[in-house]
Amino acid sequence: MIYETKVLPYDGKSAALAAEFLKRGELVAIPTETVYGLAANALNENAVRNIFAAKGRPQDNPLIVHISSIKMLPPLVKEIPETARRLAERFWGGPLTMIFPKSDNVPDVTSGGLDTVAVRMPSNKAAAEIIKKCGFPLAAPSANLSGKPSPTTAARVFEDMNGRIPLIIDGGECEVGVESTVICFKDNKIHILRPGGITAEMLSEFGETEVDRAVVEGLRGGEKALSPGMKYKHYSPAADVYIINAHGEKFRKYCSRRIKTENGVLALGAGVAEADGFLDYGKTSELQAKRLFELLRTADELGAKTVLVEIPEKTGVGLAVYNRLLRAAAFRTIEVE
Ligand code: AMP
Ligand code: MG
Repeated sequence: MIYETKVLPYDGKSAALAAEFLKRGELVAIPTETVYGLAANALNENAVRNIFAAKGRPQDNPLIVHISSIKMLPPLVKEIPETARRLAERFWGGPLTMIFPKSDNVPDVTSGGLDTVAVRMPSNKAAAEIIKKCGFPLAAPSANLSGKPSPTTAARVFEDMNGRIPLIIDGGECEVGVESTVICFKDNKIHILRPGGITAEMLSEFGETEVDRAVVEGLRGGEKALSPGMKYKHYSPAADVYIINAHGEKFRKYCSRRIKTENGVLALGAGVAEADGFLDYGKTSELQAKRLFELLRTADELGAKTVLVEIPEKTGVGLAVYNRLLRAAAFRTIEVE
């Protein structure tokens, strides 16, 4: 424990304090509309190194660079494709990250040694104000210990980061609840590397859109990930997570039997009544996105050994829920007869 970690509610004063710490090269956890971010000056190598250390994040997993105005983009990149301009106009600030060829201003530690850089402009007021007050872009991966479910409240950030960073800004519960959509531009197409709040359906209005195979499948042996983060185990509680490919009564019956006959089994169902080992993770994909990570952490608090999760819809933001769940479950899916 090096720091006595302060948690301050977001206001003009705490935002100014956050910017002061960030200008000194310190780390500050900030709210965004996706999940809480662990922020540092993206252009300061030492500060960025401290992000990797605080999270225990593998060095080759690049960080997303957060800006507060489109004027901050050109110095970070070598070129801006026309589609990117149109997407920025429509979806920034918001949960869309775009990959660009990086300029020399962006240190290699930030881009995980790649010659590209991931950039997004958050819509969250606190995040935008803090970046603006800094005057430089912020690298900000999710503010959890590497491998754990991402935090969607300041209290969850505190659980993982207490003693590791000086300050957490509390902006309440995150609106979207899963990380941003990450896209690159490949063969004149919009290529989704990680699904998120800006959906394939929304992007397809701006050009042919395809979803990377690794979004719903594991990488094959020897295959190189286009997005390095996709190769790591992720979002995992201590309990073993399984995706249950069944809905409604079929799902409830299967889970009930296991809850009654085994120790430490918890079931997350879409719109289920919360009783006898069942927790509701929401009827809509939007609600599921918002609640998934929080419920995975709740499962650990309740001492669950096994968590059975009803398979989400794979359309809209549901694809993002499914993508995170697959990793939390290490791709284990149970077919129910
Ligand atoms: P996180 O910051 O934890 O939300 O993760 C950022 C995600 O964006 C990871 O999956 C990274 O692999 C991905 N990413 C960041 N920069 C790049 C890049 N230059 N090229 C491809 N993927 C990237
Ligand atoms: Mg993360």
